[in-house]
Amino acid sequence: MARKRVIILGSTGSIGRNTLEVLAGLRDEFVVVGLAGGTRWQELAEQADRWQPEYIAIGDESLEARLKAEAPPGATVLAGGDGLEELVTRSECDIVVSAIVGTAGLLATVRAVRMGKRVAIANKETLVVAGALITRLARESGAELIPVDSEHSAIFQALHSGRREDLHKIYLTSSGGPFRTWTMEQIRDASLADAQVHPIWDMGPKITIDSATMMNKALEIVEARWLFDVPADRIEVLIHPEAVIHSMVEFHDGCLIAQLGTPDMRIPIQYALTYPRRLPSCGEPLDVMALRRLNFETPDVVRFPALQLGFDVAAKGGSAGAVLNAANEAAVSAFRAGQIKFGEITDLVTDALSRHEWMDSPTMEELLTADAWARNEVGACLKC
Ligand code: NAD
Ligand code: MG
Repeated sequence: MARKRVIILGSTGSIGRNTLEVLAGLRDEFVVVGLAGGTRWQELAEQADRWQPEYIAIGDESLEARLKAEAPPGATVLAGGDGLEELVTRSECDIVVSAIVGTAGLLATVRAVRMGKRVAIANKETLVVAGALITRLARESGAELIPVDSEHSAIFQALHSGRREDLHKIYLTSSGGPFRTWTMEQIRDASLADAQVHPIWDMGPKITIDSATMMNKALEIVEARWLFDVPADRIEVLIHPEAVIHSMVEFHDGCLIAQLGTPDMRIPIQYALTYPRRLPSCGEPLDVMALRRLNFETPDVVRFPALQLGFDVAAKGGSAGAVLNAANEAAVSAFRAGQIKFGEITDLVTDALSRHEWMDSPTMEELLTADAWARNEVGACLKC
């Protein structure tokens, strides 16, 4: 059987590196034909040296010459947003791992969907911005959207237990993040060092901050809304500090189907690559006997107002997701740059959403305009 040709958008990030670890154990099944990163050109060149892909792409065009100088001979080097899309178009790949962070990954992911590829999708922001459009395009092209986000992978797996029309509810679990037990005052003034430490997961810098505000869960509510075509009022969030149950679905007969596993992103990544097959994994199996107890708590939308934004935006649809995501990306950058307090991240996103002139069924161009508008709004607020 011919090996499946894989490209990784965001290969130098946390998900990207984990994907390469998974692929290192599956060399008989998969071949890496393309790697793409944003700015870390040396790491990209090292990865290319090891994996010998046909294509390498770098998001930051100013680094193209440096990457070319270090790239293995024979590899085609592409650059910029167009370069990412070209990588998807030219590489004749079977699977695109979409693991760029933020809207930066949107157009290349859309290209992969239009081309009818299997898209192992970690880049949740893409679905938050353009979920309605992307899922429609996938239906038209036959592209497979297989979630990598651990909660959505769990839901995807649990949904195999029943008919879609018999689905009653989705329970998205959350560890609660680093500030689960903090007071509102403590959270408002949390430092970057406090927010950068996640109790369970080791992830990229942006999603780690999102987990602390619980904006990550808000984005995941919207992600689930589009990926599984469920209305917002059928999605519930459950705090589960052990992060062993990755999510659950409830069918009309009251049966709940959950997926459990060690918190290790290599497991959902591998599943997205090999689905529907389940191969031995490089992750540790869950030691059920070692689990003393599993805890659950109701989420607190007062201390974590971002959560409510997720429900509101999932219910509203249209251009709201683009604004939620872009305002959050801009606010998180401002927090990481020391320009605002932790508590102001969600305030800025709330303000942008309240000022936005909502569109019902925006085109891709209109979504990108809404994205740019929201970034500007946050920028303007930072100056006032
Ligand atoms: P990360 O910051 O570690 O990596 C991001 C990757 O995107 C890097 O390779 C970076 O070079 C690349 N990138 C950024 N801007 C780019 C651009 N303009 N052009 C090309 N490449 C660019 O982030 P991560 O934690 O790996 O997260 C990636 C995505 O997966 C995010 O959408 C995140 O929400 C999602 N996700 C991550 C985890 C996790 O455990 N890390 C879990 C679930 C979902
Ligand atoms: Mg998740």
